[in-house]
Amino acid sequence: MPANPASASPPLVPIRAVDVIRKKRDGQELSKAEIEALVQGYTSGNIPDYQASAWLMAALLRGLSRAETAALTDAMLRSGEVLDLSEFSPKKVDKHSTGGVGDKTSLVLAPVAAAGGLLVPMISGRGLGHTGGTLDKLEAIPGFNVNLPVSQFRSVLRGCGCCMIGQTAEIAPADRKLYALRDVTGTVESPYLICASIMSKKLAEGIDALVLDVKTGSGAFMKKLEDAAFLAELMVETGERMGKKMVALITDMDQPLGRNVGNALEVVEVLEILQGEGPADLRELCLELAAWMFYVGGAASSVGAGKLTALQMIDSGRALAKFREMVQLQGGDLSAIDDPGLLPRSKHTADVASPRKGYVTAIACEAIGTACVILGGGREKKEDSVDPSVGIVLHKKVGDAVGAGESLCTIHYNSAPLAARAQTLIEESYQISEKPPAAARPLVHQVLQRS
Ligand code: URA
Repeated sequence: MPANPASASPPLVPIRAVDVIRKKRDGQELSKAEIEALVQGYTSGNIPDYQASAWLMAALLRGLSRAETAALTDAMLRSGEVLDLSEFSPKKVDKHSTGGVGDKTSLVLAPVAAAGGLLVPMISGRGLGHTGGTLDKLEAIPGFNVNLPVSQFRSVLRGCGCCMIGQTAEIAPADRKLYALRDVTGTVESPYLICASIMSKKLAEGIDALVLDVKTGSGAFMKKLEDAAFLAELMVETGERMGKKMVALITDMDQPLGRNVGNALEVVEVLEILQGEGPADLRELCLELAAWMFYVGGAASSVGAGKLTALQMIDSGRALAKFREMVQLQGGDLSAIDDPGLLPRSKHTADVASPRKGYVTAIACEAIGTACVILGGGREKKEDSVDPSVGIVLHKKVGDAVGAGESLCTIHYNSAPLAARAQTLIEESYQISEKPPAAARPLVHQVLQRS
């Protein structure tokens, strides 16, 4: 499909942004033409941030109908180019998460899937709200460039079978702007806005199949299982309408995934997983999601067979080799991959001690994500830059026994006042009880696949 930059064509209907804001504020349904005009107007710079923010808040509070959600997704998709990757013979498969804390699976999955023969043209996002972002993690690798033009995106795909970039001026520019605005205006937690944001990027990638990781629990945007299931269905339906093979896994985000939260710290954990090590929960989720990628991409006859392929890619070192190839092709410094000690490191660390002996029965996961943002690992304003070196390393997770005064986690920081704020949040987020928790939550709650 040819490029279709929003700035090149005038709005289909003349709208006054304030009228569309008021209409949504009052709970009325917007027409497709009004939504298109709004998206075009904001993408081209004719509608300012403050009006787009007001509309986003109205949409979050009032909700969108199915027709409005479809129109928004479509307008955001067509704000840029829809890639035609038919020159590549492997099946094009991607995975996207709705956002979590310590969720670094994309950095593992792209090379695992590419090593196993799939093509992975991945367009990701930055940190959003209290959650971490794939692009911020990748940029913790010195030199890694997530801002490639389409021509270079294609050439990296040709070179190694996977490439990880952000929304650009060419691909999903509407999401690039709206995503950054939602991050800092409290307008993330809407299933309709999340659906349009994720699906507009993913549909622009020219993929055949998509695996969605829809998070639920205290660290997710959809805290309740039924809300996560609603979002999963909305996205699966949207993808299927556009002819994509879809599956959504609803997975647990009631405590951070793995042990490391923070951009460079998470890259260290990615390298551990690619070397066949690393925390069990992270490894298990990576294998499960990779298995589904191989299955929906037709490279495995069953999910079980897909898991075996994923294991082989890791155990043989082929996935790590693929990750190195991608890092090199995207300008990253390979010496930091071969020696993670060369990744950015904070100046200071401090332990958070357990106030008593007992068992960890809960960790308020959103608070851990917010603590990382406060340390500088995320943004509080659009223009903030991210400190790749800060974060939190959890030594104790739900179900673990802990002694009085024993370290629950270590804070990696560069500013003492910020560390003090983060420490208070972290102390409040750990629940220590006399008895262990009754039962562990499953890592995968549900799988939604309709065809
Ligand atoms: N991931 C996205 O790309 N967009 C959202 O809105 C949430 C998670």
